[in-house]
Amino acid sequence: MSVNQQAHTGPPYGQPQPGYQGYQQPAYGGQSLPGVPQAQYGAYNGPMPGYQQPVPPQGSLRAPPTSGAPPPASGASHPSGPLAYSQFEHGDVQNGIPASAAPVQRPPASQPFLPGSAPTPVIQQYGAPPASVQQLRNHMAGMTIGSTAASAPPPAGLGYASVPPVSGSFSATGSGLYTPYSASQGPPLTSVSQGLPLAQPPLPAQTISTQRPPTQVPGFTPPPPSTGVGPSSYPPTTGAPRPPAMPGPPLPGQTVAAPPSSQPNHVSSPPPPSTMAGLHPGPPMSGLHGPPPPTHPPQPGYPMQQNGSFGQMRGPQPNYGGAYPGAPNYGSPPGPPPPPKRLDPDSIPSPIQVIEDDRNNRGSEPFVTGVRGQVPPLVTTNFLVKDQGNASPRYIRCTSYNIPCTSDMAKQSQVPLAAVIKPLATLPPEETLPYLVDHGESGPVRCNRCKAYMCPFMQFIEGGRRFQCCFCSCVTEVPPHYFQHLDHTGKRVDFYDRPELSLGSYEFLATVDYCKNNKFPSPPAFIFMIDVSYNAVKSGLVRLICEELKSLLDYLPREGNMEESAIRVGFVTYNKVLHFYNVKSSLAQPQMMVVSDVADMFVPLLDGFLVNVNESRTVIASLLDQIPEMFADTRETETVFAPVIQAGLEALKAAECAGKLFIFHTSLPIAEAPGKLKNRDDRKLINTDKEKTLFQPQTSFYNNLAKDCVAQGCCVDLFLFPNQYLDVATLGVVPYQTGGSIYKYAYFQLETDQYRFLNDLRRDVQKEVGFDAVMRVRTSTGIRATDFFGAFYMSNTTDVEMAGLDCDKTITVEFKHDDKLSEDSGALLQCALLYTSCAGQRRLRIHNLSLNCCTQLADLYRNCETDTLINYLAKFAYRGVLSSPVKTVRDALINQCAQILACYRKNCASPSSAGQLILPECMKLLPVYLNCVLKSDVLQPGPEVTTDDRAYIRQLVTSMDVAETNVFFYPRLLPLTKADVDSDSLPAAIRNSEERLSKGDIYLLENGLNIFVWVGVSVQQGLIQNLFGVSSFSQISNALSTLPVLENPFSKKVRSIVDMLQGQRSRYMKLIVVKQEDKLEMLFKHFLVEDKSLTGGASYVDFLCHMHKEIRQLLS
Ligand SMILES: [Zn+2]
Repeated sequence: MSVNQQAHTGPPYGQPQPGYQGYQQPAYGGQSLPGVPQAQYGAYNGPMPGYQQPVPPQGSLRAPPTSGAPPPASGASHPSGPLAYSQFEHGDVQNGIPASAAPVQRPPASQPFLPGSAPTPVIQQYGAPPASVQQLRNHMAGMTIGSTAASAPPPAGLGYASVPPVSGSFSATGSGLYTPYSASQGPPLTSVSQGLPLAQPPLPAQTISTQRPPTQVPGFTPPPPSTGVGPSSYPPTTGAPRPPAMPGPPLPGQTVAAPPSSQPNHVSSPPPPSTMAGLHPGPPMSGLHGPPPPTHPPQPGYPMQQNGSFGQMRGPQPNYGGAYPGAPNYGSPPGPPPPPKRLDPDSIPSPIQVIEDDRNNRGSEPFVTGVRGQVPPLVTTNFLVKDQGNASPRYIRCTSYNIPCTSDMAKQSQVPLAAVIKPLATLPPEETLPYLVDHGESGPVRCNRCKAYMCPFMQFIEGGRRFQCCFCSCVTEVPPHYFQHLDHTGKRVDFYDRPELSLGSYEFLATVDYCKNNKFPSPPAFIFMIDVSYNAVKSGLVRLICEELKSLLDYLPREGNMEESAIRVGFVTYNKVLHFYNVKSSLAQPQMMVVSDVADMFVPLLDGFLVNVNESRTVIASLLDQIPEMFADTRETETVFAPVIQAGLEALKAAECAGKLFIFHTSLPIAEAPGKLKNRDDRKLINTDKEKTLFQPQTSFYNNLAKDCVAQGCCVDLFLFPNQYLDVATLGVVPYQTGGSIYKYAYFQLETDQYRFLNDLRRDVQKEVGFDAVMRVRTSTGIRATDFFGAFYMSNTTDVEMAGLDCDKTITVEFKHDDKLSEDSGALLQCALLYTSCAGQRRLRIHNLSLNCCTQLADLYRNCETDTLINYLAKFAYRGVLSSPVKTVRDALINQCAQILACYRKNCASPSSAGQLILPECMKLLPVYLNCVLKSDVLQPGPEVTTDDRAYIRQLVTSMDVAETNVFFYPRLLPLTKADVDSDSLPAAIRNSEERLSKGDIYLLENGLNIFVWVGVSVQQGLIQNLFGVSSFSQISNALSTLPVLENPFSKKVRSIVDMLQGQRSRYMKLIVVKQEDKLEMLFKHFLVEDKSLTGGASYVDFLCHMHKEIRQLLS
């Protein structure tokens, strides 16, 4: 099945490799294991030859192509001849950019020498006008947030949910709310909706607004000093007064003006407009959610003050009042002073709307990766990916896809350049898994100097005899076995036959040079280590685990078409001492060996400890039956912890293999032993300079142990069942640094928590995982990876080492400039992951990504991805709490984001009043999401959040991908009572604010860890009966951990929604039923992140004002 040198002899990788799809069949590729010797290897004693070679300093050898002027290699060039396309499955012709993929931002560098040779119609010329959806999107300029005028919400305090969610307010195109308004005004709706300045010549974007419903965000404007000119005085002129033309292409951006000083909700005195002093998150918010003035219709649009045209009334305004009977006399100064206003939450950027728009615009067509620097759809959009030379966004997402050419520009913008990499991400079944390329004994072809792996961006020269490295420019001889002729366009004729020449992601079979001690690895082992102290036994946990393992062991990860898993298993139980079990197949009964000298851990048996499940099936079953009985009457309450890990480590060492420890643990390890801990929890440290110590391990013992584990490829997954503090910050060190996972079930109760725990355990055991992994990210000259975030260990500055790496783990990598980049050649990333598969095969997984480079800041801001930015910022901040006071970390975050937005305002937005907040289109959600990070339990804990919770969350977030951080910080809130029971679709999400909830409805809120089902006090009795099987609100039990299975459409629909959401997350979410006005509601409200939080976290509205103030200070 694998591709080798005989590239043209057959369809080398036309079939997806069976068994490659996710954790149900977690094994890789459809190959047997040719030549994987069973030879075992000893300890890891340093870098693998051929892999960790240091990158020489950049610069010296930039040899230009010497002959033949070959075309620069590109990720997806166009077919130049009758190539064997059929080798790609689904007729997935690797033919450059299909017509459907409108984006044509193809940089000149990728195509310059091929005019005429490529039959595709999409070659982008230098400076060509925008002609694609993507470009149009990028060119959607100057979103101007219009007036403050509040749209009157329904009168009932909680009556929002029956109103269509906010979406209507922003999608100017289709919005019924605004249509009449626009129609009554001169400018056509479309132009309004584009947010384009009035004087701007019409852009192509306007003609395709259906493809990209523009987001129009009305804003709030600070009043000019001392005049009563509140926002209400400014006609919310939908589009009428548009700003004058900007030089150059229009820039995305939005204007959010500050709230009027008279707003009741913002403290007492009108804040001076220059500082907006009253708009700190702190002030009481009493008025904010009160009934707004009843007068104004929703008004998206463009405040007059845009571009400094304060008070300059344009034509349409005088008619405004007429268009809206009952509206105050807009634009007529002599009228009575406008009523005080609140800042309308509907007028500020809505996450729901942005998500919805992206879904509508980008969910229908596949994302084809042939174009450099293309911004992918949002993580909340369902889309398919076709690899045409760049890695799928499921593997790599970037904070920006167009990065500044110079370090100065990057510093000026303060936009972090980072990539969130998930090297073993699970793909949907419709997508093709990375092909495995086997170059035989010679191994992968690499650059002589920087050791980058062959990829679509390497340029073949001199008739194919040499290639120039796209990363360091060094020219390398093509090995004879790899030689192939070039066609008349300079492309190898086997281009489409070789994944490493035409695809963004692929794998190489590694040679022995890539293995520890030059020996091929053995298959890994799983060791199950069960706490059998009093608490674990009494709660029923021990029995539960043993019962589950009996069946779960049949589902260990398998390689492709292998009949059984190659993974061997072993068992240990422990309290103050450790019990090892001999489960050799020849035994009639398992044998127990007790090690009570925990100070110097050793493994008392070698033969019979790690066994094949099938061979030892009856002995293992017998053991699992006996364990709960053996410890049923235990009185032992104390446990050890470090010796447990040491035991597992020693066992793997003795077996000369990598592996994973599954440790089920219940308490602070206070028994006398290495790594013994004391209870040092102290909530008084919160908000002091010593708060950071709560996140630090209390001893360095575990750091050293982690280092030993990584060297052996011993990954630790920890399942915690605490009834009190057990110091997650310390116990988590080894799991964290070995690439493992932590699961925590506080106050574990069999009845309510077993299902969640068992689901987590099943997934954790079965999921795709690589062992003994080393990841390096290479970059083209000019930038380099400087910082890394995630669950791993680093012994040098470039290599990320993970004893284990599973399909859910991400590594966030930050890049910095060390030289200039060029717009022509762009910037390249190559992530190479060396790992051992679950069958013991040594492999290299390669992901390549090409980015654009810019000399204009506007290009940077147009191609940013806020979700990824937040992923980076959250990880950066969560690491910061280890060394700095939490307040310092929060302030630094706010400052950085203010600088990012101020830089945009200063350099990219059209001139306008300082009173307006102008946000780049791609970053308009930065304030709301940033606020969610700032309010999170790690950075601003409430009284109910324990120290262990915070340490746990901190570690979880550090390994999250972009989709997970997105929903974690801004939970998904669905009105269940709006669900269509006849359709598969989810009800439209609503914003996370209490005022969006109706007491007559039932809602679901999920954040990746929890699912809340909130029931309003006035929900119809029939709905309650259908969902909960009880006859009244008061009878609903809030102890429910699952929804009852009832045979009616509503119950089925809700349960199917819950199941669907559970299936999307890497952990089984805890379901909590919350009744309105019940005690538990406080917990629920904590997740309504647009509201002011009980712990002092700002509301979205307040925070936006605060950000605005910060930005203005930076600008002045
Ligand atoms: Zn190189």
